[in-house]
Amino acid sequence: MIQGVVIKSTGSWYLVRTDGEGVLQCKIRGALRTRGTKSTNPVVVGDRVHILVRGGDKTGVITEVADRKNYIIRKSSNLSRQTHIIAANIDQAILIITINYPKTTLRFIDRFLATAEAYRIPAILLINKTDLYNADEQGELLKLCKVYESIGYPCHKTSVASGEGLQDFTKLITGKVTLLSGHSGVGKSTLVNAIDPELNLKTSEISDYHLKGKHTTTFSEMHELKFGGFVIDTPGIKGFGMVNMDKEEIFHFFPEIFQASHLCKYYNCLHINEPGCQVIEAVKAEKISLTRYESYLSIYFEDTEEKYR
Ligand code: GDP
Ligand code: ZN
Repeated sequence: MIQGVVIKSTGSWYLVRTDGEGVLQCKIRGALRTRGTKSTNPVVVGDRVHILVRGGDKTGVITEVADRKNYIIRKSSNLSRQTHIIAANIDQAILIITINYPKTTLRFIDRFLATAEAYRIPAILLINKTDLYNADEQGELLKLCKVYESIGYPCHKTSVASGEGLQDFTKLITGKVTLLSGHSGVGKSTLVNAIDPELNLKTSEISDYHLKGKHTTTFSEMHELKFGGFVIDTPGIKGFGMVNMDKEEIFHFFPEIFQASHLCKYYNCLHINEPGCQVIEAVKAEKISLTRYESYLSIYFEDTEEKYR
């Protein structure tokens, strides 16, 4: 019996990086398939597994999956109740953003951060393409870092063109399982390839429209870094949505709003327009960023169906 971590899944075959026996191609034991009740896939990228090695053909059978410390899911479709787990046991999620080219909105950032909170994945912001920023954009970058660092989200700056922050980025992901996301074009693949050229990562953004039209057949892959650790790039990251989040608990995933909420007059305050709401007071006093509060409201008031579009 050996152990390992699943680094790729095609739905019927799994590649497992074993502890000491290299990478093995594995199937799963039939009984495993029925276990993960609501999920369409019982074994996912990032899972720690036990394997029985079969003699001769050097393949394995996955006999056991360890409990997951966290995982990210997408809904198979709007109507389906089934969920598809994209990856498990993620140490950190890095959102790569650019102020412009392409523009990353604060709404998008806040939605990502709230989702990471809901999944209990530590989140980090990385602002790329700093070589391109004019004075205004530099100012925006500083403001952005100030807001998010004050909440507790680390902000890193990089430029593949000038080399700024690349060592820092390497250090950040060494030895960890890192989920990388960000809009198409922000430089995800360029960044990773700059620090580990052997990877030759191609990020493939699959449109949600495409995913909805078909039944989900996307499978993730963890890319092993030569200096230790893995990166996961998730196709169709837009689907990294607010699954299974009750309206009443959305504010729990905005740490500074959650913190201020302890002082609200009503224990069930939702921080919309209630008297004695200390979240609203904190926004007025500029202790909580207005844009963060607006992001909270926009998620709170959005039509549930919209979430999966
Ligand atoms: P992805 O879709 O997030 O994987 O983005 P890519 O890695 O394909 O990068 C999109 C474009 O941005 C490419 O033309 C890159 O050469 C360019 N790019 C990436 N990083 C930087 C950077 O730091 N500075 C500049 N000026 N261009 C960059
Ligand atoms: Zn309140």
